[in-house]
Amino acid sequence: MSTTPVSPDPVAPQSGPLVTVRGLAKSFGDNHVLRSIDFEVAPGSVTVVVGPSGSGKTTVLRSLNALDVPDAGVVRIGDVEVDFGRAPVTKKQVAALRAQSGMVFQSHHLFPHLTVLQNVTSGPVLASGRDQAQAATEARELLRLVGLAEKADAYPYQLSGGQQQRVGIARALAVRPKLMLFDEPTSALDPELVGEVLSVMKDLAAQGWTMVVVTHEIRFAQQVADQVLFMDGGVVVERGTPAQVLTDPSTDRARQFLHRIL
Ligand code: ADP
Repeated sequence: MSTTPVSPDPVAPQSGPLVTVRGLAKSFGDNHVLRSIDFEVAPGSVTVVVGPSGSGKTTVLRSLNALDVPDAGVVRIGDVEVDFGRAPVTKKQVAALRAQSGMVFQSHHLFPHLTVLQNVTSGPVLASGRDQAQAATEARELLRLVGLAEKADAYPYQLSGGQQQRVGIARALAVRPKLMLFDEPTSALDPELVGEVLSVMKDLAAQGWTMVVVTHEIRFAQQVADQVLFMDGGVVVERGTPAQVLTDPSTDRARQFLHRIL
């Protein structure tokens, strides 16, 4: 495997899960958004999370990088483990967990006054104090990876929504995360722009990036996912391969959901 900065970490074949989540719980006031979530993510695998709106999918992702702080449960990513039930969780622990993953949101608020290249380098240079020239070299490589090498010196307003999302992916990769989190990365895009973003995500999966993706793109899940989690009401109702969960679900709840969106 190449050791260029844009490659995922090489993983020993017999190492355990990259991500382990146990007993994750989160409430907003009286709203028990996550009740007790358990799952694992193997290194180099793609997990797709599906389920109705409000079922807690985004909150799971945001808990993985501590954008939302869970009330209880354990999250381990790589060699960083945080037990949220054991207060107080320190800022240092949160920062260590957050450094494990890069997150791609529905839409990216790129800095309008910075070029594409500067948008990609701003994360590593600011967050980890990396050398500007080195960060720029890596950023150009990442822009090539997302098919935007020729846009390095463009400004965000000169890009389509799909291109902006691909810059967002490059920016998330730039901090060299072990895990990539995608929160409905195509749902704010015009339909004709969805394909180019999914295509970049497929490339990343093929290169061995470990990814957790919240999406309604069921075809993407069928083609790319190793594991599908179906969530409803703050619990993981079904968990298995795409064939198990998407083609032959075992619960009425999953059947009804899939019937509605397919
Ligand atoms: P999904 O991604 O499946 O649509 P979310 O995780 O976004 O679900 O939201 C689950 C529930 O948590 C919803 O009822 C939502 O209103 C609530 N929620 C999410 N974030 C917050 C927040 N910051 N404050 C209050 N309620 C929230």
